[in-house]
Amino acid sequence: RPAAQATTVALAEGDGIGPEITQAVVKVLEAAGAAVKFDPVTVGEACYLDGVSSGIPESAWETIRQHRVLLKGPITTPQGGGYKSLNVTLRKSLGLFANVRPCRAWDPVLPTRHPDMDLIIVRENEEDTYAGIEHRQTTEVTQCLKLISRPACERIARYAFELARAQGRKKVTCMSKDNIMKITDGLFHRVFKEVAAEYPDIEAEHCIIDIGTALLADQPGRFDVILAPNLYGDVLSDVAAQITGSVGLGGSANIGEGCAMFEAVHGSAPDIAGKDMANPSGMLLAACEMLRYLGDAQTAAQIQDAWMVTLEEGVHTGDLYKEGKSREKVGTQAFAERICENLGRKP
Ligand code: NAD
Repeated sequence: RPAAQATTVALAEGDGIGPEITQAVVKVLEAAGAAVKFDPVTVGEACYLDGVSSGIPESAWETIRQHRVLLKGPITTPQGGGYKSLNVTLRKSLGLFANVRPCRAWDPVLPTRHPDMDLIIVRENEEDTYAGIEHRQTTEVTQCLKLISRPACERIARYAFELARAQGRKKVTCMSKDNIMKITDGLFHRVFKEVAAEYPDIEAEHCIIDIGTALLADQPGRFDVILAPNLYGDVLSDVAAQITGSVGLGGSANIGEGCAMFEAVHGSAPDIAGKDMANPSGMLLAACEMLRYLGDAQTAAQIQDAWMVTLEEGVHTGDLYKEGKSREKVGTQAFAERICENLGRKP
């Protein structure tokens, strides 16, 4: 799509810190003149409390299905009971089969122990234990089914290799636990090997998930593209985002056929909600991915440059602030305003 033509996307603020970081992100996108218009929808906690059991009212579904692109703040899901995750419902209902989570160190601006880290996690987004097939066999015995299908394995493996090729990446590492789950993870690994054979220009390797996660934490620079089933991919991406300095830095794209949802990696952070403390960077980077998806790569680059200049100036939210290293500790909205002031500048 041509960059000049504004596209309307659905916008869901989400819960907890969601409204604050959404406000900050919209402020930056508007100041940058991004070719996008927002159509707000309400989903999440407020809807559950209103009696909408899925957390997504029919009107919101209509808006999301109409625009086919959603920028979403994090949503609170109760632990160990209560309603089903709305994030899972959205991903499954919209057929968003690939969750793409780029993760790189921003050294020297945000110094890390691993300046060479620059990887993309491709997480299968619809199956695995996230299929939500759970049973209570007796009052004392519970069961969760792990669903892994060949079509989904093929689709996500091919997506990972195509992404690697398109982005000039050299290697795809599949992580699974097929020494234990020989049938389900075994299928994921086997299909990976079959698909890898179609991409001789890209190195393919496999790690068992436990040592793979340990290596990611210790030597993230050895990875390029990581492919994983749903649950492992979720855990890996929080580990990866935290290595770069804060879970608040991670953005993600949920991709389907002609439909996509963009969000931060992190959750609704109820511990800091409403305090103007949250780092909006994860959602901002996700919004930049959305602009690229919509064909407005130029504005995405301009926003990312202004964001980098702001961090370079030592203007940091609390999660990144380091005494003696940062210059100024700012809140969510002030951070966004500083990014707006830096639009047009290059790091
Ligand atoms: P969380 O990511 O919300 O918070 C973990 C820690 O990181 C907290 O200390 C929090 O303050 C901090 N943090 C998170 N985002 C931050 C940011 N932008 N800036 C600064 N600090 C940040 O994880 P959690 O506490 O396990 O989950 C809270 C809720 O979010 C749960 O209901 C969970 O289900 C939900 N959740 C939603 C999504 C999503 O919507 N995609 C993803 C993960 C978790």
